Amino acid sequence: MYPRVLIDLRKFRTNVEVVSKRMQRKGIEVYGVTKVFCADINLTNVYVEAGLKAVADSRIENIRKLENLSIMKVLLRIPMQTEVEDVIRYADVSLNSEISTIRLLSDEAIRQGKVHQVILMIDLGDLREGFFDEDELYKATEEAKKLKGVKVIGIGTNLTCFGAVIPTLEHMERMIEIKKNLEARTGMELDIISGGNSSSYYLMEDGKLPKEINNLRIGEIFVCGNETAFGTRVAGTYDDVFILEAEIIELKKKPSLPIGESGMDAFGKHPVYEDKGEMIRGIIAIGKQDADMSGLVPLDDHIEMIGRSSDHMILDLTKSSQDYRVGDIMRFKLKYPGILSVMTSEYVEKSFIK
Ligand SMILES: *Cc1c(COP(=O)(O)O)cnc(C)c1O
Repeated sequence: MYPRVLIDLRKFRTNVEVVSKRMQRKGIEVYGVTKVFCADINLTNVYVEAGLKAVADSRIENIRKLENLSIMKVLLRIPMQTEVEDVIRYADVSLNSEISTIRLLSDEAIRQGKVHQVILMIDLGDLREGFFDEDELYKATEEAKKLKGVKVIGIGTNLTCFGAVIPTLEHMERMIEIKKNLEARTGMELDIISGGNSSSYYLMEDGKLPKEINNLRIGEIFVCGNETAFGTRVAGTYDDVFILEAEIIELKKKPSLPIGESGMDAFGKHPVYEDKGEMIRGIIAIGKQDADMSGLVPLDDHIEMIGRSSDHMILDLTKSSQDYRVGDIMRFKLKYPGILSVMTSEYVEKSFIK
């Protein structure tokens, strides 16, 4: 069945082992992030077997699928107040930035006879989640300290996801300062400073990650083999764990310019095409409903992706040296948005290479 994504578990295992060992050697515990592959059990098991500290996902539906895995589970997205019951049931730790939600987590944890662990998120300027006002952070920590159903185990930050802010040594030093201030003011001891995601990894490689930063939450490096501050490939990893395959359903010589008056396409856009004369145009059976095209890289680098509608992708095959036929399979490497979209799509078959 096509389209399908071929997932090389051996290459994935290499990525996870190589990178997590480097991190563990520097005293950094690793949360293996599962959201990009919807917590698929085959891939998640690789994290468990590699001895990561925890698996982490933004969706409680995904974490719930991992109920039978004996490893710590972390909810990455700030919990919805309406999902608190499931958060307590299925996650051991959650990242938080609202005291009103932490109160509900505590109440529910008491109800379920548990103590839920909380990491307080600090917004250092990327402007997604996290406490921004320090006074609010101190007050929330003071109150959380008194709640019987939760235990604050540390602080964390997330950078580069929304504001594209690149993590620096200064950001990390700021986190250490906040931790010290919090401990001094509340008398608590905080075990963890979680210094970010795959964009903070380069600091470690460059020897610029202070030893107090003892946790990172990593997804993209493991699945794509690149860090995300600069997009640099990480030594010893594969960038082709995931390969997308789609089938050619039409192959014809056609003009490069549509014929007739130009209006809106199927998605309300006014496309502009360059006149390149006649070309060999292939259609493959994959579209917007299956995959995000910005995440696709053709393995044949002489073909060009011209465009897409819901169910079709149009390729310019004119410059390729391959003799393509209808029924042939086109292959693509996947970048992060590509992996996210094909793993989420129920129209893309998942096939594992063990
Ligand atoms: C997605 C996410 C991560 C992992 O990010 P990568 O860039 O895939 O390493 C870490 N922390 C939070 C809060 C996230 O939402």
